[in-house]
Amino acid sequence: MLLNEFSPIAFIATTPTGAKKLQFLCQNQDNTLWVPESLSEINHAKTYKDSLKNHLANLWDNHQAFVFCLATGAVVRLISNLLKSKSTDPAVVVVDETGKFVISLCGGHQGGADKLTQLIALQLGATPVLTGASNGLELPAVDMLGIPFGWCRGEGDWNAVSAAVAKGEEVEVIQEVGSTLWQNNLPKSHPFKFNESQTTKAKIFISHKQYSPPLSPSSPLCLPSLTWHPRVLWVGIGCERGTSKQVIADAIDKVFLENQLALSAIAGIATIDIKSDEVGLLEFCHESNLPLITFPSETLSTVTVPNPSQVVEKEVGTPSVAEAAAIVAATQQSNTSSQNIASLQIPKQIYRSSNQNQKGAVTIAIAQAEKEYIGKVGKLLLVGTGPGNLEQMTPAAQTAVASADAVIGYSLYIDLIAPILRKHQIVEALPITKERDRAARAIELANWGLTVAVISSGDSGIYGMAGLVMEDLQASGWNGKNPHVEVFPGVSAFQSAAARVGTPLMHDFCAVSLSDLLTPWEIIIKRLEAAAAADFVTALYNPKSKTRTQQLTEAREIFLKYRNPETPVAVVRSVYREDEQITITTLEKLLDVPVDMLTTVLIGNQSTRSYGQWMITPRGYRK
Ligand code: SAH
Repeated sequence: MLLNEFSPIAFIATTPTGAKKLQFLCQNQDNTLWVPESLSEINHAKTYKDSLKNHLANLWDNHQAFVFCLATGAVVRLISNLLKSKSTDPAVVVVDETGKFVISLCGGHQGGADKLTQLIALQLGATPVLTGASNGLELPAVDMLGIPFGWCRGEGDWNAVSAAVAKGEEVEVIQEVGSTLWQNNLPKSHPFKFNESQTTKAKIFISHKQYSPPLSPSSPLCLPSLTWHPRVLWVGIGCERGTSKQVIADAIDKVFLENQLALSAIAGIATIDIKSDEVGLLEFCHESNLPLITFPSETLSTVTVPNPSQVVEKEVGTPSVAEAAAIVAATQQSNTSSQNIASLQIPKQIYRSSNQNQKGAVTIAIAQAEKEYIGKVGKLLLVGTGPGNLEQMTPAAQTAVASADAVIGYSLYIDLIAPILRKHQIVEALPITKERDRAARAIELANWGLTVAVISSGDSGIYGMAGLVMEDLQASGWNGKNPHVEVFPGVSAFQSAAARVGTPLMHDFCAVSLSDLLTPWEIIIKRLEAAAAADFVTALYNPKSKTRTQQLTEAREIFLKYRNPETPVAVVRSVYREDEQITITTLEKLLDVPVDMLTTVLIGNQSTRSYGQWMITPRGYRK
């Protein structure tokens, strides 16, 4: 599941040990583990009959990634004839036979091999080996920085600009459109200049415009430059019935060329709903891989446009199709919190082909959205990080965090998982009290199209962020699919605390949070009474804070009504963290032990006993 974004992946092993290593990773039905015929006994693997070299040639063009468990030398020889260019080659990753190292061999940036390498390394507990220059500098690779936002690579001398960055030379960034989130987590020593500079050695344009090719490379004035195109332009189209896709394409090409706009900055095509079956338009969108969004005339007619037409109004019920549709599409895509109406970049232009054989006429208008169109279904990965030590975080949860475009959580937890964050991930750490804001921000980014990991300590679904996110999604009328949601379990505080003191939870148990911030105290008391009366071993979460000091005292009194004052109690603070403190005491003496918000209190049942530093609840149902 976690490697989905790279599917289909071909895994290739030639030894039983290698096959077993890869089998563990190859759990998605789109991915295949290939082994030679001699290893036909390996479960869920397919065998190749031909030479491996020929076999790879057959697989090459229809796989996004290749993961070998084979000597790097052998892999280099096997794939050397298949490599074409770094913009089209798949990711090639090599896992060593002992599973200690995962090497990004080829297609590191644009093929995604660096990211795949890091994700596989987390799943195997291995060391990722990345050799690209930007990794050493901890900088985002210039040919990758727009990928999370769906930007398209435009013209430029990509190698020369990358080389300038690798040399630590100053690179001027001229960003006209698109998200600036990529700038937020740059290391202090980054080479980017966001103002005009005399000492700059290269330029990065982030623009919806088509810059004319730079001066001749031999000219001393010519600095190497490259262009990224965020997809901010919505093309509104009106056309006569039966207009061919070629006429539509020609019309768009012409308007973009005349206005120095970049075709790859097109977010999508917008029109009136009665055109949703217009064959030429559908074919054009399909071939150009662009979304077609349509609006009813009632929506379009509410928009103020520069060039309304009475003729059009009579025909379809709105005085504008192209201009209005472009504006509505661009406005919808913009920030939901802002009420701004998107601006029309190019008012309507009418195009008719000069070629007599091409049918139809097209009206085109272009509006610019505040926010780029990412073109992906966003994801919310609701991740529990466990108590705080990375060893206690599941490999799946680690991989989920590393796979995300953006990571959101309380700053303490983000710090605890810092080693697994990828260098240029968007990381938004918010203070502990801002849970609601964190949930809202995560949903906003996921609705936009990013993959967002929302971090909770312990388990995300136990007094964690997952609940807030799901509640908010439901309240917003979520369809259950978009954004896609996945929850990654974590080891909750009651489990970690229990593990450190033995087996207190061996029999029926429950957890009660003493925080009455979101729950009325009467309800909490009712649950404490019930738990105490029913002889549940009880884990108390949120037992005490600076402002909430009485709850634990009251809880203890309730338990004393039903349980012996000598009942063992474990007070476990910051479990599995550097400042872990563990005290085994009794119900009677509980209040003598310091307790705060980083503490979990475990109250034994009537059979629980303490034994040295251990707390044991017997397993048996019969005496
Ligand atoms: N989702 C978390 C709970 C968050 S509520 C989980 O499943 O563990 C916060 C409470 O969890 C704290 O007040 C404390 O009672 C408990 N807690 C979280 N981390 C802890 C740790 N490392 N050691 C002890 N208690 C912890």
